[in-house]
Amino acid sequence: MSLYIKSQCSGLFECAIDYTPIFFLILVVRYLLISGGAFLIFWILLRRNIEHKRIQENYPKRRTVLNEIKWSILTFTIFGGIGSMVVWASHNGYTKVYRNFDEYGIAYFILSIVLFMILHDAYFYFSHRLMHTKFLFKKVHKVHHLSNNPTPWASFSFHPSEAVLEAGILPVFAFLFPYHPLALFVSLLIMSVMNALGHLGYEFYPKGFTKHLIGKWFNTSTHHNMHHSKVNCNYGLYFNWWDRIFQTNHSLYHETFEEVTSNQNS
Ligand SMILES: [Zn+2]
Ligand SMILES: [Zn+2]
Repeated sequence: MSLYIKSQCSGLFECAIDYTPIFFLILVVRYLLISGGAFLIFWILLRRNIEHKRIQENYPKRRTVLNEIKWSILTFTIFGGIGSMVVWASHNGYTKVYRNFDEYGIAYFILSIVLFMILHDAYFYFSHRLMHTKFLFKKVHKVHHLSNNPTPWASFSFHPSEAVLEAGILPVFAFLFPYHPLALFVSLLIMSVMNALGHLGYEFYPKGFTKHLIGKWFNTSTHHNMHHSKVNCNYGLYFNWWDRIFQTNHSLYHETFEEVTSNQNS
Protein backbone atom coordinates (compact mmCIF):
# COMPACT_ATOMS: atom_id res chain seq x y z
CA MET A 1 0.00 0.00 0.00
CA SER A 2 3.04 2.27 -0.21
CA LEU A 3 1.67 3.70 -3.46
CA TYR A 4 -1.36 4.80 -1.54
CA ILE A 5 0.67 6.86 0.90
CA LYS A 6 3.33 8.20 -1.46
CA SER A 7 1.33 10.75 -3.44
CA GLN A 8 0.32 13.87 -1.58
CA CYS A 9 -2.24 14.90 -4.18
CA SER A 10 -4.82 17.24 -2.72
CA GLY A 11 -6.76 18.39 -5.75
CA LEU A 12 -9.36 16.08 -7.30
CA PHE A 13 -7.87 16.40 -10.77
CA GLU A 14 -4.35 15.85 -9.46
CA CYS A 15 -5.44 12.67 -7.62
CA ALA A 16 -7.25 11.41 -10.72
CA ILE A 17 -4.10 11.90 -12.85
CA ASP A 18 -1.89 10.25 -10.19
CA TYR A 19 -4.06 7.30 -9.30
CA THR A 20 -6.44 6.36 -12.13
CA PRO A 21 -3.69 4.75 -14.28
CA ILE A 22 -2.21 2.91 -11.27
CA PHE A 23 -5.58 1.54 -10.19
CA PHE A 24 -6.46 0.65 -13.78
CA LEU A 25 -3.25 -1.33 -14.10
CA ILE A 26 -3.79 -3.13 -10.77
CA LEU A 27 -7.37 -4.02 -11.78
CA VAL A 28 -6.28 -5.36 -15.17
CA VAL A 29 -3.56 -7.50 -13.57
CA ARG A 30 -6.04 -8.79 -10.96
CA TYR A 31 -8.53 -9.59 -13.74
CA LEU A 32 -5.90 -11.44 -15.77
CA LEU A 33 -4.76 -13.41 -12.75
CA ILE A 34 -8.17 -14.34 -11.34
CA SER A 35 -10.61 -14.40 -14.27
CA GLY A 36 -7.91 -15.22 -16.83
CA GLY A 37 -6.37 -17.82 -14.53
CA ALA A 38 -9.77 -19.47 -13.93
CA PHE A 39 -10.45 -19.49 -17.67
CA LEU A 40 -7.05 -20.98 -18.44
CA ILE A 41 -7.30 -23.68 -15.79
CA PHE A 42 -10.95 -24.73 -16.08
CA TRP A 43 -11.94 -23.82 -19.62
CA ILE A 44 -8.73 -24.81 -21.37
CA LEU A 45 -6.34 -27.04 -19.39
CA LEU A 46 -8.87 -29.16 -17.45
CA ARG A 47 -11.71 -28.85 -19.94
CA ARG A 48 -11.87 -32.53 -20.90
CA ASN A 49 -11.56 -33.80 -17.32
CA ILE A 50 -14.27 -31.66 -15.75
CA GLU A 51 -16.95 -31.67 -18.40
CA HIS A 52 -19.32 -33.44 -15.97
CA LYS A 53 -19.15 -30.39 -13.70
CA ARG A 54 -20.40 -27.96 -16.34
CA ILE A 55 -23.56 -26.10 -15.43
CA GLN A 56 -24.65 -25.63 -19.03
CA GLU A 57 -23.56 -28.19 -21.60
CA ASN A 58 -22.92 -25.75 -24.43
CA TYR A 59 -19.95 -23.42 -24.75
CA PRO A 60 -20.41 -19.72 -25.52
CA LYS A 61 -19.41 -18.17 -28.82
CA ARG A 62 -15.95 -16.65 -29.13
CA ARG A 63 -17.52 -13.28 -29.94
CA THR A 64 -19.46 -13.29 -26.65
CA VAL A 65 -16.28 -13.98 -24.68
CA LEU A 66 -14.43 -11.14 -26.44
CA ASN A 67 -17.33 -8.85 -25.57
CA GLU A 68 -17.06 -9.84 -21.91
CA ILE A 69 -13.38 -8.82 -21.97
CA LYS A 70 -14.03 -5.57 -23.81
CA TRP A 71 -16.70 -4.35 -21.37
CA SER A 72 -14.62 -5.44 -18.38
CA ILE A 73 -11.61 -3.38 -19.51
CA LEU A 74 -13.89 -0.38 -19.89
CA THR A 75 -15.21 -1.02 -16.36
CA PHE A 76 -11.65 -0.83 -14.98
CA THR A 77 -11.14 2.70 -16.33
CA ILE A 78 -14.25 3.73 -14.38
CA PHE A 79 -13.29 1.80 -11.25
CA GLY A 80 -9.83 3.41 -11.47
CA GLY A 81 -11.36 6.89 -11.71
CA ILE A 82 -13.70 6.33 -8.77
CA GLY A 83 -10.86 4.79 -6.74
CA SER A 84 -8.81 7.94 -7.31
CA MET A 85 -11.74 10.05 -6.07
CA VAL A 86 -11.84 8.01 -2.88
CA VAL A 87 -8.09 8.64 -2.47
CA TRP A 88 -8.73 12.36 -2.89
CA ALA A 89 -11.56 12.23 -0.34
CA SER A 90 -9.40 10.30 2.10
CA HIS A 91 -6.39 12.65 1.67
CA ASN A 92 -8.69 15.51 2.51
CA GLY A 93 -10.11 13.81 5.59
CA TYR A 94 -13.59 13.09 4.23
CA THR A 95 -13.46 9.33 4.74
CA LYS A 96 -12.76 7.08 7.73
CA VAL A 97 -9.79 5.45 5.98
CA TYR A 98 -6.94 4.96 8.48
CA ARG A 99 -3.37 3.99 7.75
CA ASN A 100 -1.94 3.17 11.16
CA PHE A 101 -2.67 -0.52 11.62
CA ASP A 102 -2.50 -0.32 15.44
CA GLU A 103 -5.21 2.30 15.60
CA TYR A 104 -8.01 -0.30 15.51
CA GLY A 105 -6.11 -3.59 15.88
CA ILE A 106 -6.31 -6.94 14.15
CA ALA A 107 -9.81 -7.92 15.37
CA TYR A 108 -11.36 -4.82 13.83
CA PHE A 109 -9.25 -5.31 10.70
CA ILE A 110 -10.89 -8.73 10.18
CA LEU A 111 -14.30 -7.44 11.24
CA SER A 112 -14.09 -4.61 8.69
CA ILE A 113 -13.56 -7.16 5.90
CA VAL A 114 -16.59 -9.20 7.03
CA LEU A 115 -18.61 -6.00 7.42
CA PHE A 116 -17.66 -4.93 3.92
CA MET A 117 -18.89 -8.26 2.52
CA ILE A 118 -22.22 -8.02 4.35
CA LEU A 119 -22.80 -4.42 3.27
CA HIS A 120 -21.59 -5.05 -0.27
CA ASP A 121 -23.89 -8.05 -0.55
CA ALA A 122 -26.92 -5.92 0.41
CA TYR A 123 -25.76 -3.05 -1.84
CA PHE A 124 -25.34 -5.48 -4.73
CA TYR A 125 -28.67 -7.23 -4.21
CA PHE A 126 -30.75 -4.06 -4.16
CA SER A 127 -28.86 -2.23 -6.91
CA HIS A 128 -29.11 -5.42 -8.98
CA ARG A 129 -32.89 -5.51 -8.46
CA LEU A 130 -32.96 -1.90 -9.62
CA MET A 131 -30.96 -2.88 -12.72
CA HIS A 132 -33.67 -5.41 -13.55
CA THR A 133 -36.41 -2.80 -13.80
CA LYS A 134 -37.56 -2.53 -17.41
CA PHE A 135 -35.91 0.76 -18.37
CA LEU A 136 -32.54 0.17 -16.68
CA PHE A 137 -32.32 -3.37 -17.93
CA LYS A 138 -32.83 -2.31 -21.53
CA LYS A 139 -30.53 0.70 -21.36
CA VAL A 140 -27.83 -0.48 -18.98
CA HIS A 141 -27.85 -3.96 -17.46
CA LYS A 142 -28.42 -5.72 -20.78
CA VAL A 143 -24.65 -5.54 -21.38
CA HIS A 144 -23.99 -7.90 -18.48
CA HIS A 145 -26.70 -10.22 -19.77
CA LEU A 146 -25.23 -10.45 -23.26
CA SER A 147 -23.75 -13.64 -21.84
CA ASN A 148 -26.47 -16.16 -21.07
CA ASN A 149 -23.76 -18.76 -20.57
CA PRO A 150 -20.99 -16.70 -18.93
CA THR A 151 -17.27 -17.35 -18.58
CA PRO A 152 -15.07 -15.94 -15.77
CA TRP A 153 -14.24 -13.08 -18.16
CA ALA A 154 -17.81 -11.77 -17.62
CA SER A 155 -17.06 -10.88 -13.97
CA PHE A 156 -16.80 -7.14 -14.70
CA SER A 157 -18.64 -6.95 -18.01
CA PHE A 158 -20.80 -3.91 -17.27
CA HIS A 159 -22.20 -0.92 -19.08
CA PRO A 160 -20.25 2.20 -17.91
CA SER A 161 -23.27 3.50 -15.93
CA GLU A 162 -23.53 0.19 -14.11
CA ALA A 163 -19.77 0.27 -13.44
CA VAL A 164 -20.29 3.62 -11.66
CA LEU A 165 -23.09 2.12 -9.55
CA GLU A 166 -21.04 -1.01 -8.79
CA ALA A 167 -18.07 1.08 -7.66
CA GLY A 168 -20.38 3.14 -5.43
CA ILE A 169 -19.96 0.67 -2.58
CA LEU A 170 -16.40 1.89 -2.13
CA PRO A 171 -17.13 5.51 -1.15
CA VAL A 172 -20.25 4.40 0.77
CA PHE A 173 -18.18 2.05 2.93
CA ALA A 174 -15.20 4.40 3.28
CA PHE A 175 -17.50 7.19 4.49
CA LEU A 176 -19.27 4.96 7.00
CA PHE A 177 -16.61 2.72 8.57
CA PRO A 178 -12.95 2.98 9.55
CA TYR A 179 -11.16 1.09 6.83
CA HIS A 180 -7.49 0.19 6.33
CA PRO A 181 -6.24 0.19 2.71
CA LEU A 182 -5.00 -3.39 3.17
CA ALA A 183 -8.49 -4.48 4.34
CA LEU A 184 -9.87 -2.85 1.22
CA PHE A 185 -7.34 -4.75 -0.87
CA VAL A 186 -8.31 -8.07 0.75
CA SER A 187 -12.07 -7.35 0.46
CA LEU A 188 -11.77 -6.56 -3.22
CA LEU A 189 -9.64 -9.64 -3.79
CA ILE A 190 -12.32 -11.82 -2.18
CA MET A 191 -14.94 -10.04 -4.28
CA SER A 192 -13.00 -10.77 -7.48
CA VAL A 193 -12.59 -14.44 -6.62
CA MET A 194 -16.29 -14.81 -5.73
CA ASN A 195 -17.22 -12.96 -8.90
CA ALA A 196 -15.10 -15.29 -11.02
CA LEU A 197 -16.69 -18.22 -9.19
CA GLY A 198 -20.19 -16.95 -10.00
CA HIS A 199 -19.27 -16.81 -13.68
CA LEU A 200 -17.17 -19.97 -13.68
CA GLY A 201 -19.60 -22.14 -15.64
CA TYR A 202 -18.63 -25.14 -13.49
CA GLU A 203 -20.03 -26.26 -10.15
CA PHE A 204 -17.49 -27.51 -7.63
CA TYR A 205 -19.56 -27.36 -4.45
CA PRO A 206 -20.73 -30.74 -3.16
CA LYS A 207 -24.17 -32.23 -3.69
CA GLY A 208 -26.62 -31.07 -1.03
CA PHE A 209 -24.72 -27.80 -0.43
CA THR A 210 -27.74 -25.52 -1.04
CA LYS A 211 -29.77 -27.45 1.54
CA HIS A 212 -27.01 -27.74 4.11
CA LEU A 213 -27.53 -25.91 7.41
CA ILE A 214 -24.60 -23.55 6.69
CA GLY A 215 -24.12 -24.02 2.93
CA LYS A 216 -27.61 -22.80 2.12
CA TRP A 217 -26.67 -19.25 3.15
CA PHE A 218 -23.93 -19.03 0.51
CA ASN A 219 -24.41 -18.59 -3.20
CA THR A 220 -23.02 -21.08 -5.69
CA SER A 221 -21.76 -20.97 -9.28
CA THR A 222 -25.05 -22.52 -10.34
CA HIS A 223 -26.93 -19.71 -8.60
CA HIS A 224 -25.40 -16.91 -10.67
CA ASN A 225 -25.18 -19.03 -13.80
CA MET A 226 -28.97 -19.42 -13.58
CA HIS A 227 -29.24 -15.66 -13.20
CA HIS A 228 -27.65 -15.39 -16.65
CA SER A 229 -29.67 -18.16 -18.27
CA LYS A 230 -33.07 -17.42 -16.66
CA VAL A 231 -32.58 -13.65 -16.03
CA ASN A 232 -35.20 -12.47 -13.51
CA CYS A 233 -34.09 -14.48 -10.47
CA ASN A 234 -31.06 -15.19 -8.24
CA TYR A 235 -29.86 -11.60 -7.71
CA GLY A 236 -27.50 -12.06 -4.75
CA LEU A 237 -23.72 -11.86 -4.68
CA TYR A 238 -22.03 -13.69 -1.78
CA PHE A 239 -24.92 -14.78 0.40
CA ASN A 240 -28.34 -16.25 -0.29
CA TRP A 241 -30.29 -14.52 2.48
CA TRP A 242 -31.69 -11.62 0.42
CA ASP A 243 -32.89 -13.99 -2.30
CA ARG A 244 -34.50 -16.11 0.41
CA ILE A 245 -36.14 -13.17 2.19
CA PHE A 246 -37.57 -11.74 -1.04
CA GLN A 247 -38.21 -15.18 -2.55
CA THR A 248 -36.20 -14.40 -5.65
CA ASN A 249 -34.34 -17.71 -5.88
CA HIS A 250 -35.40 -19.48 -9.05
CA SER A 251 -38.06 -22.11 -8.29
CA LEU A 252 -35.79 -24.77 -9.82
CA TYR A 253 -32.57 -23.55 -8.17
CA HIS A 254 -32.14 -26.44 -5.74
CA GLU A 255 -33.24 -29.05 -8.30
CA THR A 256 -30.80 -27.64 -10.87
CA PHE A 257 -27.98 -27.61 -8.31
CA GLU A 258 -28.67 -31.24 -7.42
CA GLU A 259 -28.79 -32.18 -11.07
CA VAL A 260 -25.51 -30.41 -11.85
CA THR A 261 -23.77 -31.99 -8.86
CA SER A 262 -25.20 -35.47 -9.40
CA ASN A 263 -22.07 -36.48 -11.33
CA GLN A 264 -19.84 -35.02 -8.63
CA ASN A 265 -17.82 -38.17 -8.02
CA SER A 266 -17.44 -39.26 -11.60
ZN1 LIG B 1 -28.69 -9.21 -13.72
ZN1 LIG C 1 -23.10 -12.07 -13.88
